[in-house]
Amino acid sequence: MAGFISQATIDEVTARTDIVRVVSDYVPLVQKGNDWWGCCPFHHEKTASFSVSSEKKFYYCFGCHAGGTAINFIMEMEKLSYPEAVTFLARKQGIQIQYSEGGLEQQKEDPAAKLKQEYTDLYTRVAGTFHYMLTSTDAGAFALDYITKRGISMETIQKFKLGYSPRDRFWLKKFLLEKNYSKEFLEASGLFSKKYPDIAFFTDRLMFPIFDRSGNVVAMGGRFLRGDAEHSPKYLNSGDLPQYKKGSTLYAFNFARQAIREAKRVIFCEGYMDCIAYHQCGIHYAVAPLGTALTEDQIRMVKPFVQEILLSFDSDKAGQEATRRAILMCRKQDITVRVIQLTGAKDPAEIMLNFGKDTLTKDVELAILDSDFLLSKLQELYPKNSPEGKKAATLSFFEYMDALQSDVQKNACLEQLCQTFDINLEAARKDFTNRAHRGVQERSVPQRLQSEESVSQEQNKHQVFKPNAELRAVLTAVTDDPIYFQKMRSRISVDDLTDPQARKLFIIMEECSRSGSFSVSNILNRCESEQLKSMILKSDDEYSSNIAQSVDSSILYVERTALERKRLELVNRMRRLERSALPEDKALLSELLSQKMDLDNKIVSLKRM
Ligand SMILES: [Zn+2]
Repeated sequence: MAGFISQATIDEVTARTDIVRVVSDYVPLVQKGNDWWGCCPFHHEKTASFSVSSEKKFYYCFGCHAGGTAINFIMEMEKLSYPEAVTFLARKQGIQIQYSEGGLEQQKEDPAAKLKQEYTDLYTRVAGTFHYMLTSTDAGAFALDYITKRGISMETIQKFKLGYSPRDRFWLKKFLLEKNYSKEFLEASGLFSKKYPDIAFFTDRLMFPIFDRSGNVVAMGGRFLRGDAEHSPKYLNSGDLPQYKKGSTLYAFNFARQAIREAKRVIFCEGYMDCIAYHQCGIHYAVAPLGTALTEDQIRMVKPFVQEILLSFDSDKAGQEATRRAILMCRKQDITVRVIQLTGAKDPAEIMLNFGKDTLTKDVELAILDSDFLLSKLQELYPKNSPEGKKAATLSFFEYMDALQSDVQKNACLEQLCQTFDINLEAARKDFTNRAHRGVQERSVPQRLQSEESVSQEQNKHQVFKPNAELRAVLTAVTDDPIYFQKMRSRISVDDLTDPQARKLFIIMEECSRSGSFSVSNILNRCESEQLKSMILKSDDEYSSNIAQSVDSSILYVERTALERKRLELVNRMRRLERSALPEDKALLSELLSQKMDLDNKIVSLKRM
């Protein structure tokens, strides 16, 4: 049906589309006054300058000046042409598209879009047929038996439209030709062998349809079930197709989207089966990258909605390497990462089958921070009492620190590394800086930049004592005005600090505050350590520009690290108790679990500040 999408259709789509609902599928929005606000998806920002007006049916960014209607928004986000975006929105509203002879060029029906739609319809149809074969025919009984024995319920099979592709390699082609599809169309569909176009690509496999964001089937994956295991790959997956790009699609994202938004977290897991197991256990925010390593596009799809990403990859070598890669990628995008460690089985499906849903839920709740995960892996790899081991572990951990976006966090992680491997902090810090410096020089930096680099190196030499993150936090409240420290002590206590110098300083400030003699000179007078004194004197000009803000973020930092520390302690206690069968230990475990959930809530609410 060639022609132009009629103006009447475009007007109807614009009138009936709620732009706030469309945009909030991609960007979390908050209502302020008549308009809705969020962080702009078109440029990087941390405070919301992106506004959506449901009355004017328009969005506008005050930062990068992007703006337009719902149609423009969908064009940008889904990378669609104008008529494709109109069609996308029309389908959502159930609007029948009318075509007309004349019209604007941009409204013209796009043949590429039409082809995408036709292939999507084909895949949806084939998935339906395979599903029928799995659930209702003798041919599929074997596959159904396999999947049922792995603990997958009928409800889940239906929800994920699992299927079975028949053993007869010529069947699918015959079946589809009878339905009046053209030979050429079928041969380019990705459903048949490129070399032998009469032979189906997927045969005798358990089939996993891959859905787009709106729940249409756009591609497929098939698991090998029987026969020549040596010459058949365990999983076969669709390659890139007109309607499908695997690097920018996440398996189960259509089912998970709402849950990701509610939980503010997402689980990235290894494959179809893992993902399905999480969903069947009620953990609906799990998705899987498709037949590839995790991509930046895939992280970007969930980033606006999550406060943390949980990784659930296999515990074998390849899986561990994938975990490490994913950690670095997420950290580069400034997202908190935790790693799920499964106890007593190799994957989530096995946990579900052997231990049940509660065990899997608990493993998710016990996910550890990525830095703790990496350090524990490094301890397995490198002996901590040999100089070579210390060096190797340090170099490996520096890669992680490079990916971190905050200096405070880098510093805190360096401290953690030094504690774990019993390394001198100053030496590690020197190695970190020198390595970065060498790295810059190797990439042959222009002369001018190099001299600037050596100037800053020179300055570094004079800074003999560098306060660590905690001490820097306490130092922000060292001023002549006592109100800042009063605010600090109302929120944190000396027990929230672990660094000896930071604790010492906090106690001195506490004494000054109680005796009503709070001032920089009085604090200095009470200091016995020359090192601490010099740091107080130096920090003075560093923070004086915006004390209130520095103190606020310092308090947040200390609160957060103290909570994270408590959380790790709890998790470790829980891990020890899990092995015990004593009823009193079980009771204690559930008590600890509820404490941990309290802590998690506190951590999440701190992150919102
Ligand atoms: Zn913008």
